[in-house]
Amino acid sequence: MVEHWIDGAPASGASERTGPVYNPAHGIEQRRVRFASTEDVDLAVEAAARAFPAWRDASIAKRQQIMFRFRELLASRTDELAAILTSEHGKVTADALGEIARGLEVVELACGMPAYTKGEYSENVSTGIDVYSLRQPLGVVGVISPFNFPAMVPLWFFPLAIATGNTVVLKPSEKDPSASVWLARLFQEAGLPDGVFNVVHGDKVAVDALLEHPTVRSISFVGSTPIARYIYATATANGKRVQALGGAKNHMLVLPDADLDLAADAAVNAGFGSAGERCMAISAVVAVDSIADELVAKISERMSRLVTGDGTRGCDMGPLITREHRDKVAGYLDVAGADGASVVVDGRDPDVNGEPDGFWMGPTLIDHVPTSSAVYRDEIFGPVLSVVRVDGYEDGVDLINSSRYGNGTAIFTNDGGAARRFQREVTVGMIGINVPIPVPVAYHSFGGWKDSLFGDAKAYGPRGFDFFTQEKAITSRWLDPSHGGLNLGFPQHD
Ligand code: NAD
Repeated sequence: MVEHWIDGAPASGASERTGPVYNPAHGIEQRRVRFASTEDVDLAVEAAARAFPAWRDASIAKRQQIMFRFRELLASRTDELAAILTSEHGKVTADALGEIARGLEVVELACGMPAYTKGEYSENVSTGIDVYSLRQPLGVVGVISPFNFPAMVPLWFFPLAIATGNTVVLKPSEKDPSASVWLARLFQEAGLPDGVFNVVHGDKVAVDALLEHPTVRSISFVGSTPIARYIYATATANGKRVQALGGAKNHMLVLPDADLDLAADAAVNAGFGSAGERCMAISAVVAVDSIADELVAKISERMSRLVTGDGTRGCDMGPLITREHRDKVAGYLDVAGADGASVVVDGRDPDVNGEPDGFWMGPTLIDHVPTSSAVYRDEIFGPVLSVVRVDGYEDGVDLINSSRYGNGTAIFTNDGGAARRFQREVTVGMIGINVPIPVPVAYHSFGGWKDSLFGDAKAYGPRGFDFFTQEKAITSRWLDPSHGGLNLGFPQHD
């Protein structure tokens, strides 16, 4: 049983409800996870609230030392965490290690917290008067994360929140919950006081309890667009600061002058890495007609070399997260046929290096996808790459800009002018120029536009520090006798 982690110890809570945790490569339920009740969430929030004053008042040096120790422990035990990720999510070991490396970057950023939270000082704004600003923590903050990055997405938030003096209640995905508890234990080992970092598991009940709890000051959410919209509406209605990152449909525009071998490599890596279960996966290749046939041939040739199977066996691509999700993804091939698209590679019955009952779906390529088709419009979140053909650059940018999503996009070209125009014109939050998955490094912030991000605060980087701190501005004068006298007018400067 995967238990909650409250006040520095495993906690069963009062709820009888539990959910299954599968090993997707074996197709079996390997353990169960507690589903918190509202009262269980209350206990976690209370523990976080009790821990807050002492943690807020711990010196920057002390918080930094614990953060550095956490960084060292995490860096030395990545294999252990990668094994957990592969066993519950299914992603292959190399990809699990990559996920941890990107999360570790944010821990390293958190170690440098003082540089981002120093505040500002203006001397003598009026005679003898100074104005300065401080950044202080919010208090208890909530984090709600998706299944597809069980370590990295929590790591986008809790290190910055904790380094800046907040205390945290994390509600990870119920589909692969063990990584969060492992991280919480590790942080305790690094010296984090009990109650500063709590984990509660569960579903909508636990999420709603966090969204409505008066003590929780902010919500950081990552997940699908309908839930992100709901989180934003509900948490802001409850007076909270909210960053809610949603789903995506990421396009890769390939111009005729691009190196088609590099573009084909990129499309395959970004389309099928983590079985397409990445919010920054490329799911639509937008190919200019004159090179589309050649590009599709190069992509399908590369796909024939991919091995789908158990992530512990050195395969390229693992299973999908659940059987239901696998079946839903496979269903899009029927939609493609009915909508007049051509299936170039059909992944429904892959030759698998793994157990027969795993949730398998092989790499799939669909060409001539009409933009009216659900194959194009929906976020499929599986190893399905669509090719949409366009006449040229303008057509391609118009198509990308008409998408409701705006998470990531990429252009492949050797024309600097076209790339520069693209970065200026495209209505997307993260852009790659000959880079298919432009996830910014930790010291730049992560987040999309339109239906890919609700609220105005991106994750990590400078915006992450801003999100987890509130600013105070102080106007100060040290009294001397010349400052006396009555004046009811609004203060002016002299
Ligand atoms: P999801 O929206 O189903 O779940 C995300 C979280 O919300 C989970 O903790 C889940 O328990 C909770 N939740 C689910 N249904 C809920 C409901 N009705 N009410 C309240 N809470 C609910 O997402 P998922 O399937 O776990 O993750 C995949 C999605 O996340 C994809 O859409 C993907 O694009 C998106 N994602 C986005 C980013 C980004 O940075 N924009 C990053 C990773 C994943």
